[in-house]
Amino acid sequence: MDYCAGANPVANMLVMDQMKNIAIVGASLAGLRGAEELRRQGYDGELTLIDASEHHPAIDRPPLSKEVLSGKWTPEEARLEIFEDVRARLILGVAATGLDLEAGVISLADGQEITFDGLMIATGAGVRHLRCPGSDLPGVMYYRDLDDCLTLRDHIERGSRVAIVGGGFIGSEVAASLALAGLEVTIIDTVPLPMEAQIGPIMANHLADQHRAHGVTLKLGAGVEAIEGETAVTGVRLTGGEVIPADVVVTGIGVIPNTAWLAESGLEIDNGVVCDEHCRAIGAENVVVAGDIARFQHRGYDRAMRIEHWTNAVDQGEYAARALLGTTADGYAPLPFFWSDQYDMHVQFAGVKGQEEEIVKGSVEEGRFLIEMRTDGNLTGILGVNQNAAFGRARRALAAELAAAVPVTG
Ligand SMILES: Cc1cc2nc3c(=O)[nH]c(=O)nc-3n(C[C@H](O)[C@H](O)[C@H](O)COP(=O)(O)OP(=O)(O)OC[C@H]3O[C@@H](n4cnc5c(N)ncnc54)[C@H](O)[C@@H]3O)c2cc1C
Repeated sequence: MDYCAGANPVANMLVMDQMKNIAIVGASLAGLRGAEELRRQGYDGELTLIDASEHHPAIDRPPLSKEVLSGKWTPEEARLEIFEDVRARLILGVAATGLDLEAGVISLADGQEITFDGLMIATGAGVRHLRCPGSDLPGVMYYRDLDDCLTLRDHIERGSRVAIVGGGFIGSEVAASLALAGLEVTIIDTVPLPMEAQIGPIMANHLADQHRAHGVTLKLGAGVEAIEGETAVTGVRLTGGEVIPADVVVTGIGVIPNTAWLAESGLEIDNGVVCDEHCRAIGAENVVVAGDIARFQHRGYDRAMRIEHWTNAVDQGEYAARALLGTTADGYAPLPFFWSDQYDMHVQFAGVKGQEEEIVKGSVEEGRFLIEMRTDGNLTGILGVNQNAAFGRARRALAAELAAAVPVTG
């Protein structure tokens, strides 16, 4: 079967005709947008959406560390919007536990077996767990779902002291929301400057200054030796011996792709499900992969990438749906993009970090600036703080440059 029929309409109809029964595992952002795109493309066969969570539509994640945590939005307001009637059979609250590619069968935790002739894998990523003495004490929590958000909102009510292990995006956003709510917050991270590796030194320094200005204590260059407490958390012991008193420990030390259910499937798993430039799983042409779980070959950067950001989940979900139906010719080669809201900063980043960086508009003092990042003189990324219009223009220009660099396929 030719699943890469590209722009040839006759071939596309053949591929679409062959697909009668598509399943999507993971009905959150990437999966839902994928389902909608299948219908928009004219797919008229059976569609089954499977998700371990009961929520439908799924709760969107970005507001969980911002608007919902701060109480500006109710959880209902954070539900994903539905733009298209997907006419799908929904199987919710049941995890997929196995995949038999040859038979075209997904096994579920409740014993059901779901057949398919086309499959989209969109099971996202789950939190990385802290492993140290005391890390299983009540009061050690992670941050990914609505329940985590509601638990932390209870702590806001109680005025808890919060230690955040990991000063990445999630840790930093949660710290900002809690500090604005008046809580005593400490961020602990092994690196000398939070997120410097992702956003560069100018922004990382500015972010650290913003945390301090809002009363957040930063313990940088410090590892966690143990979580202290008898029956519940009382503090975090750092590698140097200092103890940070805390009633709750929020751990934000990264995520791991949810691939456990695919362990026996024969699919190539390596920091995600490995797929080609068309988001098709290696070795299984009727299986596409999208969102946080997809490790795809990016033709613009000529390397494998896994992107853990919202915009990618949307774009890749839609792209993968088209790839499954054979209605796309070009490979998936997006300009990586994310935003983050912390304090009064709307941060936007597009592209990849470069070796050098320079502020080209505004200034840190004004709290509004645009940074260009370059490697060997070539623009690789841009970062804006409260610079929507200028950032938008620079992002479009960088996207056009990347698109021009992508080799064309027939
Ligand atoms: C708190 C928070 C804030 C964020 N803020 C931002 C932001 O400001 N900007 C930004 O760009 N990005 C942000 N992100 C990242 C963004 O939300 C993710 O990249 C996006 O949600 C990924 O979507 P996904 O559909 O690939 O995966 P997920 O949203 O993780 O969805 C995966 C789905 O698969 C289901 N699932 C998992 N395993 C199984 C199984 N075995 N069987 C059945 N179902 C299964 C899950 O229940 C889930 O519904 C944030 C993330 C978090 C957690």
